[in-house]
Amino acid sequence: MSLIVVGSMAFDTIETPFGKSDKIIGGSAVYVAYAASNFVQPVQQVSIVGYDFPKEEMQTLISRGVQLDGVEIVSDKKSFFWSGKYHMDMNTRDTLVTDLNVLADFNPIIPETYQGTEFLMLGNLMPSLQKKVIEQLRNRPKLIVLDTMNFWMDTALNDLKKVIKLVDVLLVNDSEARQLSNEFSLVKAARKILQIGPKYLIIKKGEHGALLFNESSVFFSPALPLEDVFDPTGAGDTFAGGFIGHLAKTKDVSFNNMKTAIIVGSAMASFCVEKFGTQRLKEITKSDIDARLNEFVQLVNFDIDLV
Ligand code: AMP
Repeated sequence: MSLIVVGSMAFDTIETPFGKSDKIIGGSAVYVAYAASNFVQPVQQVSIVGYDFPKEEMQTLISRGVQLDGVEIVSDKKSFFWSGKYHMDMNTRDTLVTDLNVLADFNPIIPETYQGTEFLMLGNLMPSLQKKVIEQLRNRPKLIVLDTMNFWMDTALNDLKKVIKLVDVLLVNDSEARQLSNEFSLVKAARKILQIGPKYLIIKKGEHGALLFNESSVFFSPALPLEDVFDPTGAGDTFAGGFIGHLAKTKDVSFNNMKTAIIVGSAMASFCVEKFGTQRLKEITKSDIDARLNEFVQLVNFDIDLV
């Protein structure tokens, strides 16, 4: 069983209505790896860090079954830095700073030991680099999932469309789906986006759950109503990690199994938001995950007598 995860490894500073973090560890590939490693190991990471990325954080990832052979360490540059500020509803945020640093001249190289992977998770990163990774794989994986964000729609739309054509599943949030399609209705947006090429589209709607589309069907997963949400950063990546982790574990890429996978993704994301950064993801155990999945089952379980 194998899963390659590509994305950023970063320092973040985050401001929410409830608090502010110092520089903490983040990055799309870090969140994906923490989530996915609960379901499948090894996770084969592809990323880049600078001299300032803590060795202990690398060790913690390794202890979770995350291989770092594909993570380049640049000795004279800083790691990627991102800073964001959330509004009162926590569903919307402003990016305050994106310092690409080492990411600016990243040229991902897939180690020979990663060849033959069955699952590829392209976490949020420059679209041209996501495409380069696909091109380096000698055998096309069974499933390629792509996550992206508005930043790349604003700055690299053509490259983004090229890579979207090559993947099986695209993950975006609702405002990104609208931006990409120029449609307000998410159903119309989904139809247009699926025409670009992917067979499946997942539209994340923050605390309002997530929609899974294919050409003819739609399925909905709620988000767990939580009393406290401290920090939504990484929730999308954590969702992606749970989603692909479940598919890789079960080796079943049918629409039916993707329904379960978006529930698993939603359950993992519900942990992520409970504390700042990756903290909560580092604490949870298999029994916490099982209990939370049961809460999801109960949340949507009902009987009806049709009249
Ligand atoms: P999410 O909240 O799931 O969108 O993910 C937030 C994480 O993505 C943060 O930890 C950031 O370090 C990382 N991130 C933010 N912007 C970018 C970007 N343009 N490219 C790659 N990673 C990013």
